[in-house]
Amino acid sequence: MARRKLVVGNWKMHGLGSDFVQVEEIESAAAGHPQVDVGLCVPSTLIERASRAVPGLPIGAQDVHPADKGAHTGCLSTAMLADAGASMVIVGHSERREAQHETDEEVRAKAEAALGAGLLTIVCVGESLDVREAGDAVPTVEGQLDASIPRDADATRLAVAYEPIWAIGTGRIPTVEDIGQMHSALRQRLCVAYGDSGEAIRILYGGSVKGSNAAEIFAVEDVDGALVGGASLKAADFIPIIEAAALKA
Ligand code: PEP
Repeated sequence: MARRKLVVGNWKMHGLGSDFVQVEEIESAAAGHPQVDVGLCVPSTLIERASRAVPGLPIGAQDVHPADKGAHTGCLSTAMLADAGASMVIVGHSERREAQHETDEEVRAKAEAALGAGLLTIVCVGESLDVREAGDAVPTVEGQLDASIPRDADATRLAVAYEPIWAIGTGRIPTVEDIGQMHSALRQRLCVAYGDSGEAIRILYGGSVKGSNAAEIFAVEDVDGALVGGASLKAADFIPIIEAAALKA
């Protein structure tokens, strides 16, 4: 099935108002490649300003609380994110799973809340180096996916990001064969979970994607785009990844 490529930047805890020139340059590059869906998940402090400054570029958040409202100091609800102008959100990033001890069940609750609110929802999964070296990567990540994805999915608004933890920010990436094997396994799990609509859900690869390796990663079957950390901070680094996706669109 043909799926539109989706390239999303994750700025993590980077970015001030003074970085808006990067956001504007990314918006204008994205506008030049309308066959690719591009988005930027900025720190919460920048969501409102970014969505006003670049209305043509979908702006997202990097986490969300599953509850509608309540006594959750420091947290933001789906309605708050949407109110600020966000149209997408990342849930279950490995940095949150590790540092905030987020469980699959919590990730699923966040994903269900976000999808319910109409946000494009990117559910992250990925194995540690120990798991990869033990030969258990595929069953481990399949289990994580099964337990983290929403029970019912709107395939047009759900995406999955396969991000091997050992590849994030390290400059190391799996072989294209290993990426293909994992994405094909995840596609099968999505079809078990959602039937035919599992075919429409985009599976992104994340972990040290750069302009220099994006084309070979996007050529892999079932790779429908990328979640990009470090290389999304500067337009000059991010734009070649958008261009590589456009060539495969
Ligand atoms: C990420 O953390 O989502 C990520 C993919 O980071 P990087 O591209 O820097 O490896």
